[in-house]
Amino acid sequence: MVNPIPQPTILSFNPAVRTLMGPGPSDVHPRILAAMARPTIGHLDPQFVDMMDEMKLLLQYAFQTRNALTIPVSAPGSAGMETCFVNLLEPGDKVVVCQNGVFGGRMKENVERCGALPIMVEDAWGEPADPEKLEDALKSHPGVKAVAFVHAETSTGARSDVQQLVEIARRYDCLTIVDAVTSLGGIPLKVDEWQVDAIYSGTQKCLSCTPGLSPVSFSERAVARIKARKAKVQSWFLDLNLVMGYWGASTKRAYHHTAPINALYGLHEALVMLQEEGLEAAWARHHRHHLALRAGVEALGLRFVVKEAYRLPQLNAVTVPDGVDEAEVRRRLLREFNLEIGAGLGSLAGKVWRIGLMGHASTPKNVLFCLAALEKVLSDLKAPIARGVALGAAGTVLAAG
Ligand SMILES: *Cc1c(COP(=O)(O)O)cnc(C)c1O
Repeated sequence: MVNPIPQPTILSFNPAVRTLMGPGPSDVHPRILAAMARPTIGHLDPQFVDMMDEMKLLLQYAFQTRNALTIPVSAPGSAGMETCFVNLLEPGDKVVVCQNGVFGGRMKENVERCGALPIMVEDAWGEPADPEKLEDALKSHPGVKAVAFVHAETSTGARSDVQQLVEIARRYDCLTIVDAVTSLGGIPLKVDEWQVDAIYSGTQKCLSCTPGLSPVSFSERAVARIKARKAKVQSWFLDLNLVMGYWGASTKRAYHHTAPINALYGLHEALVMLQEEGLEAAWARHHRHHLALRAGVEALGLRFVVKEAYRLPQLNAVTVPDGVDEAEVRRRLLREFNLEIGAGLGSLAGKVWRIGLMGHASTPKNVLFCLAALEKVLSDLKAPIARGVALGAAGTVLAAG
């Protein structure tokens, strides 16, 4: 029997123009989309190779590192996560994973799938990873090889103290694996100064690029561990010993896989834009617009999940008022305003919204737009909020600069 011929109704896909203020992807800057529409060239074309070399320098700037092994993995943030675990861990290795949200749970999965042994250090969702608990775990489990944790927990909006956690891990001679998917470009991150060994990020959060690439960086200590492995890395695609043949310093690049060429044009553009703005300026912008959103959200009478001291400016978890159907609010925001905000995950599902102010979506316009739309929808649903004050409160903060 011959398969039926499909009758597509979408003859050319033309998505609506949305405003993306969820946990990622965030709005992609038109300059980045334009860069991605340029002609595809060969992935070993000398022009492309020059662009790759420059990309490594731009990524080093973004990560604040001189690590030679600083490249974009050709797959989303989850693949960057897996790249770190499969290359650094060998079967039987003990690994401490600090978990305070969804993504720490994924780290545990990765450790187990490497045949390594996770030792979990758990904190409540919405809290940062507790350095004292990490130290206790390292004290009571001698011989731990690595410590893994999430810098910016996108599922809750909490920031953990990378510098402090790494300092403890190093005292116990452990390598560190840090998830910086949501932190890179949005909050201070200093890979060399903080002595992080392995770090991975994503392109679709504070870099405002399309999803699908994962910048990673490895210290010399980490590279030495990878080169000294007894067991082969179980993933052929993510084995850095092989990937380095393509991305490495040598001028003779060997084919490993076909790079996602146009996606890399986009990342290059995004990193040039980050450099033009300046890292510190980008961090300050994320902070400023968070303060404006906060003023508006609190004026509405809503509360934040995470305490101010370790709240992420780029991911604002806000509690849903009693009696409000949070999914209905998100549906209306999308339908009436083309505005996407995020739902809660895991133990916070149904209880919070996650409002992203990531990358180029972190603007005064989006702060005011989101507050106005939220106020309108909550008013329509007769939610118990204060009306007519949120925009003024946010505006006052924005005017103060
Ligand atoms: C989004 C995210 C990931 C996963 O990235 P993908 O690109 O979706 O694979 C991992 N960790 C954190 C903290 C994230 O926010």
